[in-house]
Amino acid sequence: MKSHERSKALFERAKLSLAGGVSSEFRKFNSPHPFVYSRGLGSRIVDVDENEYLDFTLSQGPLILGHSHPYVLEQVEKASREGQLYAALHLGEIELAEKMQRLIPCAELIRFNLSGSEADHAALRVARAVTGRRKFLRFEGHYHGWFDNVAWNVGSPSLEAMGAREAPIQVPWSQGLPAGSRDEFIVLPWNDLDLVERAFVAHGRDIAAIITEPIMCNAGCIEPRPGYLKGLRDIADRYGCALIFDEVITGFRIHLGGAQTYYGVTPDLAIFAKAMANGYPISAIVGKRKWMQPIADGVVVHAGTMNAGNPTVAAALATIEVLERDHVNERLHRLGQRLIAGLRAAAHETGQNAIVMGPGPMVHIGFANESDVHEFRDTLKYDKPKGSRFVSEMQERGIRIIGRGLCYISAAHTEAEIDHAVAVAREVFKILT
Ligand code: PMP
Repeated sequence: MKSHERSKALFERAKLSLAGGVSSEFRKFNSPHPFVYSRGLGSRIVDVDENEYLDFTLSQGPLILGHSHPYVLEQVEKASREGQLYAALHLGEIELAEKMQRLIPCAELIRFNLSGSEADHAALRVARAVTGRRKFLRFEGHYHGWFDNVAWNVGSPSLEAMGAREAPIQVPWSQGLPAGSRDEFIVLPWNDLDLVERAFVAHGRDIAAIITEPIMCNAGCIEPRPGYLKGLRDIADRYGCALIFDEVITGFRIHLGGAQTYYGVTPDLAIFAKAMANGYPISAIVGKRKWMQPIADGVVVHAGTMNAGNPTVAAALATIEVLERDHVNERLHRLGQRLIAGLRAAAHETGQNAIVMGPGPMVHIGFANESDVHEFRDTLKYDKPKGSRFVSEMQERGIRIIGRGLCYISAAHTEAEIDHAVAVAREVFKILT
């Protein structure tokens, strides 16, 4: 058994000063308690009890090149020495915006922020301004940050609590949301075009935007059905609303040009964050000129003192440079497919009801007897306690996976490490009940 004594003691100490002992709600979910980490290098992370883990959490996705990538660090240090923040225009951010214009189909104009939540917020605001309409359409189980109008239907305790598929109940994720935020959105199950068509027939003149994760990564890891994203594009065109892709996870990970390039469907607006700077805080709202013009003109306000600081921009430029130069995305797909095939074979050999899904650069493992998983409601079939036991047993054997069963792959992972993770999973499958 690994020792977690120092982590346990520090977590108890943290609870006396940090609310709940953490700095983000998502960091509480680790069994038997959150661990305290002391360093990360490449594909490895080490906790304060000197336990080393092969890291498939990658800090919830950003570390696409692995922990502390030397070239990114070098560029960040150089940029920091030139001044951390001018809160004014500098060459680096122009170069970064130009690079994004070249890589991302819908990126005609760009603005930078620090977090995905802020950029999502800006996208919804500008969509309302351009259309003069009040509501946006969102999907169950998708995550678009923690602000008032999107802190809804992120999860659900049960199928019953969600209501009928045709008319889902609005499920708040938090107390303290303003009553009016309920009127800002319509929620539907994902991956069902008929439901979207019907919603537009009923409310089309009120809908400013459709916002979607192009791959549903925040509940399971579910790809869109063939034609689904194109179908959303057609509906948005017919009704004159914005199609917004929240590419906070998919951006730079599934493809350098995001899911919009991978699936060949160009949205009007898109949000990029996590992987774009290998762990430094930067996000971007990008979009077609028509949808970004109100921000350019200042009639839709977008701001932020800390936006596009020197080190964060340098981190993004360095990260994208390495992604392009080393063809990292191809490697992530190759390694991810190896992980998927290995986990599936190991589950089959050991008689486990594991469902392994995802395009490769991100992979989800859950346990259920029915393998038809297309939307959030289907993920409620997963045996969550068994999934948690799997994650804990993997952790005990030195493999770190996100608590809900999601694995991210980085350029620092090797084929031998993927094979090792599969071998460990096979051992866990043998004892998992
Ligand atoms: N959108 C998606 C799809 C996300 O996964 C996340 C974060 N997990 C966000 C938005 C919010 O980003 P941030 O945590 O940087 O505010």
